[in-house]
Amino acid sequence: MTSTEPFLVFGSPLIEQAEIDEVLACMRSSWLGTGPKVAQFERDFADYQHLPPSRVAAVNSCTAALHVSMVAAGLEPGAEVITTPMTFCASVNAIIHAGLTPVLADVDRQTQNIDAAAIEAAITPRTRAIVLVHFAGRPCEMDAVMAIAHKYNLCVIEDCAHAIETSWKGQKAGTFGDFGCFSFYATKNVTTGEGGMVIGRDEALIARAKVLALHGMSKDAWHRFGDSGYKHYQVVEAGFKYNMMDLQAAIGSPQLARVERNWLRRQQIWRMYMEAFADCPVWLPAPPAADTLHAYHLFTIMVDEERCGISRDAFLDAMNDLRIGTGVHYQAIPEHPYYQQRFGWRPEQWPNAMWLGRRTVSLPLSPKLSDADVARVIAAVRGILG
Ligand SMILES: *Cc1c(COP(=O)(O)O)cnc(C)c1O
Repeated sequence: MTSTEPFLVFGSPLIEQAEIDEVLACMRSSWLGTGPKVAQFERDFADYQHLPPSRVAAVNSCTAALHVSMVAAGLEPGAEVITTPMTFCASVNAIIHAGLTPVLADVDRQTQNIDAAAIEAAITPRTRAIVLVHFAGRPCEMDAVMAIAHKYNLCVIEDCAHAIETSWKGQKAGTFGDFGCFSFYATKNVTTGEGGMVIGRDEALIARAKVLALHGMSKDAWHRFGDSGYKHYQVVEAGFKYNMMDLQAAIGSPQLARVERNWLRRQQIWRMYMEAFADCPVWLPAPPAADTLHAYHLFTIMVDEERCGISRDAFLDAMNDLRIGTGVHYQAIPEHPYYQQRFGWRPEQWPNAMWLGRRTVSLPLSPKLSDADVARVIAAVRGILG
């Protein structure tokens, strides 16, 4: 069966006139680099997180946010950092680039989040930190995780790439640990095209993260080239080139202003999918836990060949034939050759992540989807599953 309908791009962001106007204003101002719009976006994000601006730093990706957090945390070289095998490769690569050693702890099959008991089982005398991922926007079990972190005196870094709106018992994701790292990549809940933010408990460490994100320079370019006279800068560490541009922040502030509206739309689409697939032979996402806020970043179904009569990869192809874009979040980290070769990892060592990663399919969940688009996705999934 083929389709002549337009291709439904997975994760396509909803861009509105406010962002377009802000980007044009930025272009016309000729100040494209890090400047007043980045400072404004940092204040907007701080307000949204109920934090003082001294505890947030804009960067050019979540990957950069993860990297500078781990460098700023000052962990000794080679220290072990426990993370989840059910994540994007960036979570693990950032650990490696910070000169640390990643250690995986398996996830829970229902929540797809790292399992607190598995974290504790993975702890050795060299463990210094945990990198958590609030998968799909569902918060990890923060009581259990933070209890372990306190017991073993571990630094906690929350990868909140899916979790801008997420909260656990009234507390925002990203504010439990030492650092929270956010992504504004094109498919994320708030986008700047590419971009990220790091928030932290200790403003001195956030100040260090800011210095690290701009070459290790003690004053940023905005202050150097502003109208208050030339200022010398001093290089105080070997930093990175991770600063956000005003052009990106120009997209971010109006996007953030609509975060709630977009969340409500994704919640609505999520509920339509839950209802439409209730009688299908697929596993559906676990319902959000009581007293938590789910960010509804991904809607993942598990396509099991024995149960569905079609393999996951054949299902992906069939969706594509119907001109519907899908995603895979994720093949488990130990499925990738680099990690197998470097660390000797085999997928079977983390059976839940392996099981999920070989079956998971992410359906479109963008607030840009019309009701007709959602109906198309539902009809396609039900049709393929017979
Ligand atoms: C998208 C994503 C990242 C990386 O974000 P970037 O902004 O693209 O660097 C990291 N971790 C997770 C879980 C992600 O989904």
